[in-house]
Amino acid sequence: MTTFASLGLAEPLLRALARCGYETPTPVQALAIPPLLEGRDLLGCAQTGTGKTAAFALPVLHRLFTETPRRNGAIRALVLTPTRELAAQVEQNFQSYGTGTRLAHTVVTGGVNPRRQIEVLRNGVDVLVACPGRLLDLHGQGHVDLSHIEQFVLDEADRMLDMGFVHDVRKVMARLPSQRQNVLVSATLPKPIVKLAHELLTDPVEVSVSPEAPTTDAIDQRVMFVEKSDKRRLLSDIIKTGDIDQAIVFTRTKHGANRLVKQLDQAGIEARAIHGNKSQNARTRALEAFRSGELSILVATDVVSRGIDVEGVSHVVNFDLPNDPESYVHRIGRTGRAGRTGTTIAFCDPSEVEYLQNIERLLGAPVPVDRDHAWHSDNVVVPAAKPSRPKNPGRSRRPSRRRSRGRRRSGASKPSAP
Ligand code: AMP
Repeated sequence: MTTFASLGLAEPLLRALARCGYETPTPVQALAIPPLLEGRDLLGCAQTGTGKTAAFALPVLHRLFTETPRRNGAIRALVLTPTRELAAQVEQNFQSYGTGTRLAHTVVTGGVNPRRQIEVLRNGVDVLVACPGRLLDLHGQGHVDLSHIEQFVLDEADRMLDMGFVHDVRKVMARLPSQRQNVLVSATLPKPIVKLAHELLTDPVEVSVSPEAPTTDAIDQRVMFVEKSDKRRLLSDIIKTGDIDQAIVFTRTKHGANRLVKQLDQAGIEARAIHGNKSQNARTRALEAFRSGELSILVATDVVSRGIDVEGVSHVVNFDLPNDPESYVHRIGRTGRAGRTGTTIAFCDPSEVEYLQNIERLLGAPVPVDRDHAWHSDNVVVPAAKPSRPKNPGRSRRPSRRRSRGRRRSGASKPSAP
């Protein structure tokens, strides 16, 4: 059996992993750590929930710890992430695994006053976790020296693409020294990411793991047909009568998230919104309150659908169905984490039928319809789908389940994992 010790990781890292309670490496860790320790470039097709962060963070720390010490406060490893929340979470990983190595790390993201970040950078750090925009700003102002980077990690590259950051990523890459180790991690590999990988990586080891199997197996999925105007009442009913410990409720727009928080408040339910228009402080405070369990309902746009790892999330509600089916998979992956079970409820109004069909096509299986609620609408009609092969969102293939009929399904039987 592969163990962290057999992978050859340094003692302080092994002690830190034991403190974290990690017993064995996850598949992506077992596959990625050995070549990364050898200094190879790596293309990782893995998404959050697979242990991908430790898969790159441990080798970064190991190499920095065992190789020559930093000179004049030079930054030696750079990790780029698409969102501030993910950056904070990745840095938290470096903090957890790096205690005992005496390596310094920090995070540089937008939305907060840069003064403190500049101060920390001036004192010198080994590892910098950053979002591209703020990094380029600080680099342009002469506060960041990228000329000593030995290891570069591009995390959630497809998300960078979705958010329009690839141009900034290329700008950062152009400022790095040519001699370095590179890692690109992405949940999916659309063409532009493959192109970027060709530019970035030299003779990379390729590692691909099945992300959803362990997570969605533990998720009970269902869809409720409802009129748009009844959605908020349905949500209040579910929150008041259901067994929700903590829920993330996804809306399509920032405005919709704010409006829903107000409506829930009027119904006597405390919720907070987290989205791109909120100040970084408000986002951090809401996420901390949610993480500590003080807040039970977080209303979010897709800014948190990836990468945010909160263990106690019992429910994910898709208040609005996403128009991009892959977002659905990322959203529901916020529950059923760390070996727990989770429930996800999607609201589908008559205008969202096509979104539901796209999601089911991606999953390769229908989502069971739950009609057992006061706001069920017969106006939501889902035409019988033609049997189709599931599109693979970056994982191993499973046989598709054929659907012979339309949507006269009911109940909330557990679907097979998508
Ligand atoms: P990630 O895919 O990096 O977002 O990690 C998902 C979750 O798995 C995080 O909560 C990690 O702390 C946890 N994790 C990572 N590696 C291991 C491991 N080897 N054993 C147990 N949990 C792990």
